[in-house]
Amino acid sequence: MTATPEIGMVVVQPTAFCNIACTYCYLPDRSNKHVIAQSTVTRLFEQIFASGWSCPEITVIWHAGEPLVVPVSFYREAFATIERMRPASVHVKHSFQTNGTLIDGDWCTLFKDWSVGVGVSLDGPRELHDLHRKSRSGKGTFDKTIAGIRCLRENDVEFHVISVLSHTSLDQPEELLDFYLSEGIDQICFNVEESEGDHVSSLFHGPELRKRYASFLRRFWHLARRSGRVRFVREIDLALPRLFRPEGVPARNIQVEPLAMLNVDSHGNVSSFSPELLGLKNEDYRDFLLGNINFQSLQEIRDTCLASPLYRDITAGVQACSRSCDYFSVCGGGAPVNKLFENGSFTGTETSYCTLTQMVPTDLILEAYDRLAHSPAVVAPQAASSPSPVQSGDVAA
Ligand code: SF4
Repeated sequence: MTATPEIGMVVVQPTAFCNIACTYCYLPDRSNKHVIAQSTVTRLFEQIFASGWSCPEITVIWHAGEPLVVPVSFYREAFATIERMRPASVHVKHSFQTNGTLIDGDWCTLFKDWSVGVGVSLDGPRELHDLHRKSRSGKGTFDKTIAGIRCLRENDVEFHVISVLSHTSLDQPEELLDFYLSEGIDQICFNVEESEGDHVSSLFHGPELRKRYASFLRRFWHLARRSGRVRFVREIDLALPRLFRPEGVPARNIQVEPLAMLNVDSHGNVSSFSPELLGLKNEDYRDFLLGNINFQSLQEIRDTCLASPLYRDITAGVQACSRSCDYFSVCGGGAPVNKLFENGSFTGTETSYCTLTQMVPTDLILEAYDRLAHSPAVVAPQAASSPSPVQSGDVAA
């Protein structure tokens, strides 16, 4: 019997439309301007709250295409509706992932009013950012994105950036850090250009990638800590508590738990597992959809999920990982979408994506921990008895 779902993250696609056209975009429907109905948002959260399946804190990510092409007033209404329905025991945290080009004072007011988490996609200084992040007419989008970031700073809105690393930027940790510091950016996440949907990354499959990425991240982490001006490097700071956690507590991987991650498109179609699956198609699994929240209950959607080849194969992949991978205890079985698009199947194990997101950060932390433990000047932390006995700064190279 599968455990009751614990919904921890809801990824809502308010529209598939995006106002720009990055060269590495995998979204097939990014010219479709349809916007999710308020009634669909209402029905979705009615179902979530009535199910009793929500975690005490749910993160709602408004994401993919560009969520800021939908007006501020839409979100004010949606947030107020969700707030009215929310049980007292559940905290809802809204979050946007945006290209930043449309941010202005009105958006900043919304972000502050609702304590919204903001992630801006910014690939670094102009020459790196404009390589791939282009307008629909083919021009670079750096000026607009950086104007959005400056607007966030002027209005004291907290944000992080997500930078996609390319062949060029992997060799430039110093330049990237200098740039972030010059723009007051102190929370940073990295993605490496991936193969997903129709987009095939040449970088992702290069034989030297693991070495190059490890060298990049080691150097960046070292420089960031030395600067004293970077608060968060996601790759390290999210890996630390997964690695140093209380004994017997498994590292959760919501990408492989049915409905733990609920992904909903602008028509109310529901998927689960990796959010990138929403909108993609495949011969074996067709459109990866499990139902539509406008016409089915969450219970029906869950039943469909549990009986699906999608769930069966993702579970087989997790079991294969548990048998074969030394990193399973921190990873929990990886990202299904990357297994499918890199290996051709959910049932496989290692991908370049898990090399970059699990193996390299884990190795770097253990490498630094080892150095710390053997330093005569420092008393090393004892075996883990709290979620994170060491902080990023303690073990930084
Ligand atoms: S790191 Fe990769 S191979 Fe290892 S458990 Fe995670 S997904 Fe599986």
